[in-house]
Formats: sequence, structure tokens, C-alpha cells
Amino acid sequence: MERLQKIISARGVTSRRNAEKLIVEGKVKVNGVVITELGFKTSPDADIEVNGKQTTKNNEKFYYLFNKPRLVLTTMYDPKQRKTVADYFKDVPTRVYPVGRLDYDVSGLIIMTNDGEFANFVMHPRYEFFKTYQGLCKGKVTKQQVNQLLKGVKIEDEYFTKAIEAELLNYDQEKDQSIVEMTIAEGKKHHVKQMFSAIEANLMKLKRTKIEFLEVDDLEVGRYRELKPHEVKKFY
Ligand code: URA
Repeated sequence: MERLQKIISARGVTSRRNAEKLIVEGKVKVNGVVITELGFKTSPDADIEVNGKQTTKNNEKFYYLFNKPRLVLTTMYDPKQRKTVADYFKDVPTRVYPVGRLDYDVSGLIIMTNDGEFANFVMHPRYEFFKTYQGLCKGKVTKQQVNQLLKGVKIEDEYFTKAIEAELLNYDQEKDQSIVEMTIAEGKKHHVKQMFSAIEANLMKLKRTKIEFLEVDDLEVGRYRELKPHEVKKFY
């Protein structure tokens, strides 16, 4: 049990002195009850609301699955004032960061979290988590081209890489466009774009539809949802 003002300041909300002021003013709730008494002690894990906003427990971890739109950066800040993923996470209780990258012009799934260990783990090439992409290409992508993705291609001049799965999902004759789905377990810069380029497909748009067992499903572009605890555990 600790003094309320001490817990509030430890959670980075405000100074201890200001926390005392807020308590006296009736602006602090502990487990849903307004507390105005300065000597009040509670558990460091209590639910504490200050000025109507839940505070974040110091060790509390947050995980979200985000469907990033095209033309959004996976950085937290852009000096050129372009949109970044941070713009979509202003209302969450703490700052969360992208796990890995998606190019500016690529849409689809990305995990956002404040759990650095989890992020490093999921990003580490050693664990080779599967990522699935769908590429919209101008023209008909042939069976031979798709097979080439499976047999392997060279990117960055000498790096050999192959898709774990690759398939022509659809060819729209009227529009003369193909959708090719491929799963890879690596993540070099522009990896998938370079693979499409290696088979001389004319890639127009790219989206990531899966990260391991996580699928885009009915998550609208620009929306996120919390990961369930069992989903987070499943990565380990
Ligand atoms: N491959 C790419 O080329 N771009 C991405 O954003 C992700 C994978």
C-alpha cells in the first residue's frame, strides 16, 4: 500500500504536489470511487482515474493490431508532417510503437505495442514469423512467374530469397489486373517489392494481410483492435 499521490506521480501523470491538489479537488478516482483524503493509501496496481482519464500502471503492456492505410509512415514523427501511425493512437493510455515496418505506400497489418521485449522478439529474423502479402499487379502474372517466387529469386543483386507460399488469387480480365498472394518469413527492406520486381511483375499496390495467425479479417483500414492475451502468448 502506498500513498495515492505517490502512485499517481510514479505513473508519470503529474508531480506529487499537483496530484495532492487534484485529490483534494475531487478529480481522482480509485477503483471507481472519488477519493479526496490526502492520507489515502492503496495498492500500486489499483485502477486510478485522474481528470476522467485512466492512468497506466507502470508495468502495464498494451498490444494492438492496426490496419495501416497507404500513405501513412510507420514512424512516430515526421519532420515533413506526413501522417504517421502515431496519429491513430492518440487515445490509447500510453505511447505505443510499431513492431517492424511497412513502407509508406503499403497498407495492412502492423502490431503496435509499448512492450519492447515483445517487439524485439517478433522482429528478430531468427524466429522467422510468417507474413502474408497481396500484391495488385498490372497485367497477367503467369504461373511461371508465381513458380519463380517459390523457387527463389535474387534481390539486392545477390541475396537469394523465396516465398513460402505464392499463388495467383485472381486475374481480372476487364481491368487486366492480377492479385498475387505470397507468404515470406524474412523482412529485408522492400523485400516483397523487390521479389515482384525480380519476376518482372508490374506491382501497383501492396498490402499485408497476415502476421502469423493474425489476419486482417474485418478490421477496417485505419482501425485497430487490442490483441487478446492468448494472441500475445501464441507468439512465444
Ligand atoms: N515488403 C515491402 O516491399 N514493403 C513492405 O512494406 C513490407 C514488405
